[in-house]
Amino acid sequence: MSEKSVRSEFVSLIKQRILVLDGAMGTMIQSLKLSEEGYRGARFDAWNREVRGNNDLLNLSRSDAVRDIHLAYFRAGADIVSTNTFSSTSIAQADYGMEGIAYELNQAGATLAREAAAQAQKEDGRRRFVAGALGPTNRTASISPDVANPGFRAITFDQLRTAYSEQARGLIDGGADLLLIETIFDTLNAKAAIFAISEICEERGLDIPVMISGTITDRSGRLLSGQTPGALWNSVQHANPVTIGFNCALGARELRAHIAELSRLADTFVCAYPNAGLPNEFGYYDESPAFMADLLGEFAEAGLVNVVGGCCGTTPEHIAAIAGDSFRQCRRAHQRHRLRQVPQADHCRRLRGWPFDRARAGGERRAGDRRQYGRRPARFRAGDNDLPEPDCRRTGHRTRSGDGRFIKICGDGGRPQVFARQVGRQFDFTQGGRAGLYRTCPHRASLWRGGRGDGIR
Ligand SMILES: [Zn+2]
Repeated sequence: MSEKSVRSEFVSLIKQRILVLDGAMGTMIQSLKLSEEGYRGARFDAWNREVRGNNDLLNLSRSDAVRDIHLAYFRAGADIVSTNTFSSTSIAQADYGMEGIAYELNQAGATLAREAAAQAQKEDGRRRFVAGALGPTNRTASISPDVANPGFRAITFDQLRTAYSEQARGLIDGGADLLLIETIFDTLNAKAAIFAISEICEERGLDIPVMISGTITDRSGRLLSGQTPGALWNSVQHANPVTIGFNCALGARELRAHIAELSRLADTFVCAYPNAGLPNEFGYYDESPAFMADLLGEFAEAGLVNVVGGCCGTTPEHIAAIAGDSFRQCRRAHQRHRLRQVPQADHCRRLRGWPFDRARAGGERRAGDRRQYGRRPARFRAGDNDLPEPDCRRTGHRTRSGDGRFIKICGDGGRPQVFARQVGRQFDFTQGGRAGLYRTCPHRASLWRGGRGDGIR
């Protein structure tokens, strides 16, 4: 089947109904309670370091288990599953000394999802899609990890582009229909992935639909790299993604306002796959399938989304509830649930890196100009949401101290604006004047803790 027909099939389906994405892979793998030996399998029996926690390795060492998880999601009603390749870049795999098998992990990951899709399609005749997942890696291209050297970067755009290129080739060769750039906390990382994919498409004459999904890391409503939903959209719009949306970090309730903002702005389809609520003090997710399906059902009713699914803490039961009969009936009841219509694009100039809409206000800012961040915005448009306005303009500059227990967020003129103390998986901002605890997300790739759980990355 040609790639062009995949795109047209996808678009024609998504115009008819809300499509369902799968739930968490990491949560399902956790429930297998695999030992170190379980992760290694025969092939990596003598590997020179610990690999427990390298979920993507299971594509090679426990392929049956990964395929079964995909199949469980398809049987629960998912139209799309994302491959178990979130950390299958040479960059993220370097934590395990496994950068040499990155291509293989991706190709195997896509093949397993493809096999599950073929099985599910055979069972009920419904078209299924495989989205090749590209995670953010464990490094950030626009933030310094070194408190003493704000100009330092642990990774460059070109290094990311090379790693993503290898990943995308593996995913495409393994049979992915779509590519999903997900859990974006740094837009520059995502842009390297977009660039790598566009190079491959040009080289091979392909038209692979790309889904783009950011992650809002706390209630300030921004990515870790400082961008608001609108700024993210302005930054990636040129890639002509088939969907734009958010996943992870927040539950559906906390994510709603940000999805609503994207839904209003983006002239493409919108995708939301939140966590099963915010993590409790033990790092687990409490929202039941019915509860979450209710929240996402309301998204549908309000006409905010075209694709829904789940991230951390969600299981096939959650996906079944979301895709289940009641929701499906509601989806069909157009008098109640109107299908989100893609809005017309307006072509006024919009700039990334600035938290509010200067184009409309008649002024202009230089895109990404850090010097501008220190000035008080003339008008802060929080969007049509009910979030409290942040009392500090937290922008791109976060650093950590040597022991990883404190982070510093710089605002005006680069002076430290907020100090936060890490308490377990939360950040305590009380010392910096912003009262309250901000939770981080123990994502399947241990985003905020290193591969070894060693502080903030
Ligand atoms: Zn997640």
